[in-house]
Amino acid sequence: MVSRIIPVDPFDLTIFGGTGDLARRKILPGLYRRFWAEQMPEDARIIGAARSEMSRKDFQDMVREALLEFVAGAKRDTDRIEAFLDHIHYVAIDAKGEGGWPDLKAMQRDGVVRAFYFSVAPGLFGDLAERLHAHGITDDDSRIVVEKPFGRDLASARTLNATLAEHFDEHQIYRIDHYLGKETVQNLMAVRFGNILFEPLWNAQYVDHIQITVAETVGVGGRGQYYDKSGAMRDMIQNHLMQLLCLIAMEPPHQFDPDAVRDEKLKVIRALDPVDPSDIVRGQYGAAKGTKSYLEDVEDSGSATESFIAMKVHVSNWRWKGTPFYLRTGKRLRGRASEIAIIFKKTPHSIFGEQEEQRGNALVIRLQPNEGMNLRVTIKEPGPGGMRLVEVPLDMSFADALGPEAADIPDAYERLIMDVIRGNQTLFMRGDEVEAAWAWTDPIIDGWEARGDRPKTYEPGSSGPEESAMLLHREGRRWREIRE
Ligand code: NAD
Repeated sequence: MVSRIIPVDPFDLTIFGGTGDLARRKILPGLYRRFWAEQMPEDARIIGAARSEMSRKDFQDMVREALLEFVAGAKRDTDRIEAFLDHIHYVAIDAKGEGGWPDLKAMQRDGVVRAFYFSVAPGLFGDLAERLHAHGITDDDSRIVVEKPFGRDLASARTLNATLAEHFDEHQIYRIDHYLGKETVQNLMAVRFGNILFEPLWNAQYVDHIQITVAETVGVGGRGQYYDKSGAMRDMIQNHLMQLLCLIAMEPPHQFDPDAVRDEKLKVIRALDPVDPSDIVRGQYGAAKGTKSYLEDVEDSGSATESFIAMKVHVSNWRWKGTPFYLRTGKRLRGRASEIAIIFKKTPHSIFGEQEEQRGNALVIRLQPNEGMNLRVTIKEPGPGGMRLVEVPLDMSFADALGPEAADIPDAYERLIMDVIRGNQTLFMRGDEVEAAWAWTDPIIDGWEARGDRPKTYEPGSSGPEESAMLLHREGRRWREIRE
């Protein structure tokens, strides 16, 4: 396969929170991989900005360490790491004070893309936007990248949108949802809109139901206090799972253009029905040998925050009326697996007579681990013995068809950062989308609080509370097994 990597325009990317966990684990390794792939222009600069006073060399040492720890195979390529470090700069800056801002201003160059990644606590987003503007560091083409969480309810999201809008136009604001940067998520759009095969079946007439699962094996760990203020609904459903639902449910945009795509996603969010409390199951993991319970992890025996949620959601429009979307996400589950499964209806009549019942077609889009897609189809079991049917997965993964290079999939962050530099907002959330998602989420959370709803305890290493299975059983359906 011929590599089609096109270098991006020269840029200065300032990472606020450059010494933080996200920068070290994802952003800097992602940039290194783009450098390695020769996509980064020679004069690109990455400017770490954080509160700590440190020299450029100290920061370069920290970046080297992060790359050695978080980039597979980096140890074999130390020369390349050193070359990458030439692009790295540092400025000590306080988001809440005036220190460091003139230094950052002095570092700016004309004629390059200026991007500013807000990888700091959300409480600082407004301060950064304000000071970037006040110190004349940004121009009309500058971009800001805003990490999650974007608000904790509709009111706070609106306030944040309004604060950012005081200093930046919407086309300059990149609200990141890294799920949208995943290769298979984009492949979902390619499969839907690049083929004639699926689209005619992509509706309530032919799709029985849809399952979206994001399962983790880890607990809340050291992030307990932070997580306890959000829970699975705010941390996962309102953003990641909602975005996946939108991509599955949306109408074909008239072109693959940022606003055309986001307009269609917004229509889906607006078409979501309010959710009946009986269609939601919330859970908290219990203790197991050697692992603490959720309540111990967050050090609050009275916490009513959920570490698991399963829910049935309806999109009320012509395409989807009557087809449920089941969403499920949680921590300390039996496997680490994220997937979307489109379960098609069964054939209206079996011409093969009394057979062992077939489950019907399913398109499974696997986000992690082992990104890929497969289509479950029914075929004849080979060999003699009459017409016996068997279900097989038609593998639509990349490596076999496109060569080994295609298996080397860029991480979501590296793709998204390059999109920021290219000025392409298609895979970023627009302000109105985020607000619409909160407008749907708020009444659900308010309802729990008003009723004093408490999550059910579930066994660590399981698939969540029993009631989650019942949510589908009562309608003659079942969750796909959570498998790594
Ligand atoms: P962190 O606590 O590890 O790092 C915070 C960074 O902010 C540090 O570099 C610190 O020096 C800097 N900082 C703190 N106060 C500052 C101030 N007043 N002025 C300037 N810099 C200041 O946090 P993190 O885990 O890297 O998360 C950063 C952001 O990314 C948060 O919004 C978080 O919600 C989001 N996020 C993190 C992850 C993750 O995996 N870590 C995943 C998704 C989203």
